[in-house]
Amino acid sequence: MKIDLAGKVALVTGGSRGIGHAIARALAQVGAHVAVLGRDGDNARAAAESFGHAPARGYGCDVSEAGQVETTVAAVEKDFGRIDILVNNAGTTRDNLLFRIGEEDWNTVLDTNLKGAFLVTKHAARGMIKRRWGRVINITSVVGIGGNKGQSNYSASKAGLIGFTKSVSKELASRNVLVNAVAPGFIETELTRDLGPEQRAMLLGAIPLARWGQVTDVAAAVLFLASDFASYITGQVLVVDGGMVL
Ligand code: NDP
Repeated sequence: MKIDLAGKVALVTGGSRGIGHAIARALAQVGAHVAVLGRDGDNARAAAESFGHAPARGYGCDVSEAGQVETTVAAVEKDFGRIDILVNNAGTTRDNLLFRIGEEDWNTVLDTNLKGAFLVTKHAARGMIKRRWGRVINITSVVGIGGNKGQSNYSASKAGLIGFTKSVSKELASRNVLVNAVAPGFIETELTRDLGPEQRAMLLGAIPLARWGQVTDVAAAVLFLASDFASYITGQVLVVDGGMVL
């Protein structure tokens, strides 16, 4: 048994780098046609071109801007004919302790991570409902489950995304649109590579599988949830963290 998404159309927000790029690439490798969204349109287009011959296209779109989301989702549907799989991956951080978080940093994180997922889902799910088939996969974080010092804005956005996932899964289930979340732990990206040796050693000590997660570990979980192997799963949070929040 192999995952085969031949002919399905997937939209991945924040697909120009990091985890989103790995997800978009993995979807293309199993036959999906992929629309890659990023704030920087050139980076999104370069990412889509890097998938070789797979039908893929990049779009510049700030997911926190309602007008841009509406226009971009319409453009993707025009270019590809429809959207079957949506991965809400775009995310950002403005880490600080509670008393040092300004209103602007709070709003940027909530607007990107939570409002962005709401806006893209609202527009992309209409077609899924009409066709009675769809998958929405929201990339949350273990921090949305357990919290973290210095990340109250980020963890609030990721916990909110879990609540959003569960509520929308109930709304769309009768139309065969499945809505799930993936919660990565510490994944080796540019962000985590910058940590100092002491911090790395401390964090690694908290991971029972004793290794950092790779972007491909997250992509594999997304592929599973997008596939027909997951056709009886909705409203769930799949934790991909090497056992860290056990
Ligand atoms: P990166 O910072 O490497 O990439 C973020 C991506 O999101 C980029 O493609 C960026 O595009 C895009 N993006 C950011 N803001 C916006 C916006 N307003 N509109 C559209 N696109 C935007 O992040 P990671 O790959 O590390 O993380 C991806 C997701 O996984 C995030 O949701 C993150 O919270 C989550 N996560 C990551 C973990 C980790 O260890 N790395 C752990 C747990 C969860 P552009 O470059 O054009 O700005």
